Amino acid sequence: MPVATDGSGTRPALLGRTPEQLEEIIAGIDGDAKRARMRGRQLFHWIHFRGATDFEAMSTLPKATRAALSENWSVGRPEIVAEQRSQDGTRKWLLRFADGQEVESVFIPEEDRGALCISTQVGCTLTCTFCHTGTMPLVRNLGPAEILAQIMVARDSLGEWPTGGDDRLFTNIVVMGMGEPLFNYDNLATALRLAMDEEGLNLSRRRITVSTSGVVPKIEQCGRDLGVGLAISLHAVRDELRDELVPINRKWNIEALLDACRRYPTRRPITFEYVMLKGVNDSDADARELVRLLEGIPAKVNLIPFNPWPGTIFECSSNNRIRAFAAIVEATGYASPVRTPRGRDILAACGQLKTASERARRRAA
Ligand code: SAH
Ligand code: SF4
Repeated sequence: MPVATDGSGTRPALLGRTPEQLEEIIAGIDGDAKRARMRGRQLFHWIHFRGATDFEAMSTLPKATRAALSENWSVGRPEIVAEQRSQDGTRKWLLRFADGQEVESVFIPEEDRGALCISTQVGCTLTCTFCHTGTMPLVRNLGPAEILAQIMVARDSLGEWPTGGDDRLFTNIVVMGMGEPLFNYDNLATALRLAMDEEGLNLSRRRITVSTSGVVPKIEQCGRDLGVGLAISLHAVRDELRDELVPINRKWNIEALLDACRRYPTRRPITFEYVMLKGVNDSDADARELVRLLEGIPAKVNLIPFNPWPGTIFECSSNNRIRAFAAIVEATGYASPVRTPRGRDILAACGQLKTASERARRRAA
């Protein structure tokens, strides 16, 4: 069985902690408050900029400090249960954390960029009817270290430590994996702040997008605190249908959601995700209503062909229908790209994430 390489699981992780928190840890070890600040930053740099997983390699720290760290702490890599590669270059990792819970993350290479799609929860408390993740019974929030660990694993696997610059494969983060990110806002915010830290991964907020099904009270906070790009899982233009497809709509309806979008405090266009479900939400009238609703919001519409999963009642709209829908939206000036499904052969496409062991458990039941 594969095991974590850095002792995670038995010792607490340093990943997910701020430079100041690392400083405190170092001060506790060295008993040297004067140097702790510098050493805390060095430790942060080794972990977040160099991607070090072995304390022994952290050569700027005194030998005794390294030894004490490795005795009591882990860097914070989870166990990689599986890494799958799709024919189209998409990679998917199944990660297992200390308590045995698992999540998936997906790397999607494109010509000029590469996005890592990360998860924020094990499963999802919401039950959008077209989403495989929404059928998982087990749910818990991921901690900041567990959210960040997905980024670290991708960097490890792509061999992109510590080289920076424009030739990197992995350039963007989309928070569109398992779970509703804004239901785990505090941990997400901690993780993203650390990922944006200039001394560490130094990812730009312009290269990070958070997707939400519509947790209205957190949307504004997310824009204000983090300034990242926003994607909204709209999927229906009438409350009656959205109540069924995206049940959180019963709490915060379309009007409340779009109001929050109008107030979103960044100038970047908001992406509206719209899954194309045959005979359900894909008519010309739906497309016309969609553009009416979006009036006044700087927006882009991302049409997502429905990705099927075992047992679903939905079907994907035909290519002609998707094209006709896109044409109506585009005629009013909104960009309306159709998202090419990636990694369908390894069940890595949008809405297909549900951990393999979960699938196996169900088969056995
Ligand atoms: N929970 C967040 C982020 C994860 S889902 C959210 O709902 O926004 C990422 C996107 O994939 C969402 O727009 C989601 O609605 C969509 N999606 C879910 N299941 C899908 C499926 N089977 N086919 C296509 N898209 C799907
Ligand atoms: Fe959760 Fe998003 Fe899936 Fe809905 S679409 S069940 S919010 S992961």
